[in-house]
Amino acid sequence: MNLKVLFTILVSVLFIKCSEQEIKIIDKPIIFNQDRINLTKEYLKDRYNLDRDSITITPKIIVLHWTVIPSMIETFNAFNSPYLPDWRPQLENVSGLNVSSQFLVDQDGSIYRLMPETYMARHVIGLNHASIGIENVGGSEDLPLTSEQVESNIKLIKYLKNKYSTIEYLIGHYEYKDFEDTELWLEIDTSYRTMKVDPGKIFMNSVRKEIKNMGLLGSPK
Ligand SMILES: [Zn+2]
Repeated sequence: MNLKVLFTILVSVLFIKCSEQEIKIIDKPIIFNQDRINLTKEYLKDRYNLDRDSITITPKIIVLHWTVIPSMIETFNAFNSPYLPDWRPQLENVSGLNVSSQFLVDQDGSIYRLMPETYMARHVIGLNHASIGIENVGGSEDLPLTSEQVESNIKLIKYLKNKYSTIEYLIGHYEYKDFEDTELWLEIDTSYRTMKVDPGKIFMNSVRKEIKNMGLLGSPK
């Protein structure tokens, strides 16, 4: 084998190694106009007693979800409006701010960034002020989450943890109430709770198994 061939092989191996670490994020921004900013500020004030000029959060928790909504575009459309639509009237007295999350992972593992990573999104009661949400398309019996989604969630968690040293926790949405007795919990209404099972224990276990060495904490209970 001559040196040129050896060099070519080495470069190819290096390239493959590097691209394994790479993460591809597709920006697909939901509407984030002044109305949405104002509604977010209002949410911070009304729910958390936080009087802020900015809606930028210091991320401490990554929260994984499933959408149950069966496609990326339908999920995008559900999050797109700044206002909470009629189809979730049970939340309407709480705040007019629509639900959303910073990231959305499709069934094939494609990662979409729906809004600035450190803007507050409404996806988890009590903890929105310090959480980055990752939604996964699917989660129903007909459309379970996929191994591609597990892989992409792992990549995204690594990317976020490397970027934001303030991140300490990784939880599934079903674990959110375990924070009620911690200083991170800021929801002022003691009766405002919803029952959550997403994204399922199987999914959480699959993700956690691969990022054990990252030092992320789970549920505080
Ligand atoms: Zn959820």
